[in-house]
Amino acid sequence: MTRHEYEVVVVGAGGAGLYAALEASRGARTAVVSKLHPMRSHTGAAQGGIGAALGNVEEDKPEWHAFDTVKGGDYLVDQRSAVILADDAVRAVYDLENRGLPFSRTPQGKIDQRRFGGHTRNHGEAPVRRSCYAADRTGHMILQTLYQQCIKNEVAFFDEFQVLDVLLEGRQAAGLVALELSTGELHLFRAKALLLATGGFGQMFRTTSNAYANTGDGPALLARRGVPLQDMEFFQFHPTGIRGLGILITEGVRGEGGILRNRRGERFMERYAPTLLDLAPRDLISRAIMEEILAGNGARGDRRIDDYVFLDATHLGKPLIEAKLPDIAEFCRTYLGLDPAEKPMPIQPTAHYAMGGIPTDLDGRVLADEAGTPIEGLYAAGECACVSVHGANRLGTNSLVDLVVFGRRAGQHIAGYVKGASLAPVGKDSAGPARERLAELKDGKKGPHGGQLRERMRDVMMEKVGIYRKGPAMAQALEELAALRQEYRAVRAQDASRVFDNDVLEILELGHLLDLALVTAASAQARTESRGGHAREDYPQRDDQRWLKHTLAWLEPGGVRLGYKGVDLSVWQPKPRTY
Ligand SMILES: Cc1cc2nc3c(=O)[nH]c(=O)nc-3n(C[C@H](O)[C@H](O)[C@H](O)COP(=O)(O)OP(=O)(O)OC[C@H]3O[C@@H](n4cnc5c(N)ncnc54)[C@H](O)[C@@H]3O)c2cc1C
Repeated sequence: MTRHEYEVVVVGAGGAGLYAALEASRGARTAVVSKLHPMRSHTGAAQGGIGAALGNVEEDKPEWHAFDTVKGGDYLVDQRSAVILADDAVRAVYDLENRGLPFSRTPQGKIDQRRFGGHTRNHGEAPVRRSCYAADRTGHMILQTLYQQCIKNEVAFFDEFQVLDVLLEGRQAAGLVALELSTGELHLFRAKALLLATGGFGQMFRTTSNAYANTGDGPALLARRGVPLQDMEFFQFHPTGIRGLGILITEGVRGEGGILRNRRGERFMERYAPTLLDLAPRDLISRAIMEEILAGNGARGDRRIDDYVFLDATHLGKPLIEAKLPDIAEFCRTYLGLDPAEKPMPIQPTAHYAMGGIPTDLDGRVLADEAGTPIEGLYAAGECACVSVHGANRLGTNSLVDLVVFGRRAGQHIAGYVKGASLAPVGKDSAGPARERLAELKDGKKGPHGGQLRERMRDVMMEKVGIYRKGPAMAQALEELAALRQEYRAVRAQDASRVFDNDVLEILELGHLLDLALVTAASAQARTESRGGHAREDYPQRDDQRWLKHTLAWLEPGGVRLGYKGVDLSVWQPKPRTY
């Protein structure tokens, strides 16, 4: 086993990990460990843009952005986080511009901005142009820019190394164990500070916009080490996934003027969000689509949940689509065999974004309990983290802001922390559990096929813990997930090779997804109200009296233990959420 020592080790090379590494590396020896090559990280899929109140195209203010974020999150957002997000977004976008990010421009040469769901002028008056974008390749450009800057700062990259275990020594981060995919060799990394930025876990659902690699490794590994996970019941369904595939059609299409229509050609959002229409927040539009489908207004009209509606961009014209949405046009040609300038796109909601995750404070420090006790030297940022800036529903463009604002803050905090910190001791055989697990998976016994369990899990989550939820269905989901986790213990690898052993990796990732699915279902079943992305048919109202609080969930041998903590309401008082 090869051993490494750094002051800082970052797990994940998406936008959050790279920005944190860039900041940390200014004063500390920093390494990034990633199971994918950095440029393959899922941030590269982000199409629509990054929100910042630059006011380049029309009047805008960070205060309006913060308010929209809090309202969009159905008041479960910690409000100081939202204020920091909106204030720092402006600085972050200019910082990215200065580092070379090729944003799309106005005719005057300023960064161009377009509309996005839930982003409004003056506390909800009308949609505002707040999303800064690089055509529909914004995430890809962010990755390019940050990766180059990290190379310049001599960050060490360990690409295609999959982290199998995070080592904690009491309440202090000590290191991690990773598998080098090209050799099958184990590596031990010791560090004064660890930051997890492992991205989302939409793969737990049947229909998703997320890549195969989005399996929630970071949250699951920490949950197994006794760290709680926060607000896991809130999972966002994006309204416009390509029918049957889940591949995302960016909200940027509606930002440019695209319209949702049912089988009769009606602009049905007029009935659900008369002011913001097709630019209402995602939770609301996803439910509106389901209402249309269940009322027989879907394309087929059969009222089944896999029916679909249309996103119409034909009136935008080919030149605009090719200039501002070129990748979307290409997706439509490739996956649907149609040109969006000529025909409406068939779409249905797709599991998209995890609002919950590893609880952190405003500097990315991981929190161990309801009282907010930090774990020394352990940080998280990006989609795997929950700094509680998205609450119960994230607004479009706010994830990229979250990555750069809180990734940067975490990196800066780490740079200060490591100056006075020392390496925590690690046990003699700290890689022992990871090594034993790998040996067990290859012990030659016969077991069920992991792929089949994965498919069953995805159906259970989609049907019983999806857009609409009910107590009895979730109770059934919990039973089925418990049974799947039991069966999972007998799954074995069938590939004998150690070189790029995807069989083993997929089994390990399935274990992470099953753990997170259980935590999601348990957190959702307990919350007897509807808020943001958590819509209960048996409890259709938001209940601030009982439920204006964050969930913390501990994964324990006997199941999931739940606790709760308060929401920071220091700026705005909750109001009914209408658009
Ligand atoms: C199709 C699509 C479009 C989107 N468009 C937008 C948009 O326009 N605007 C917006 O704000 N948001 C958008 N989002 C959301 C946003 O892109 C993501 O939330 C965000 O990019 C996540 O970034 P991240 O840095 O947290 O993780 P990621 O970019 O997913 O990176 C995760 C990293 O962790 C590594 N990793 C994971 N597990 C391990 C392990 N076990 N060991 C080692 N490494 C590991 C991976 O290799 C990867 O480098 C979109 C999402 C999708 C799916």
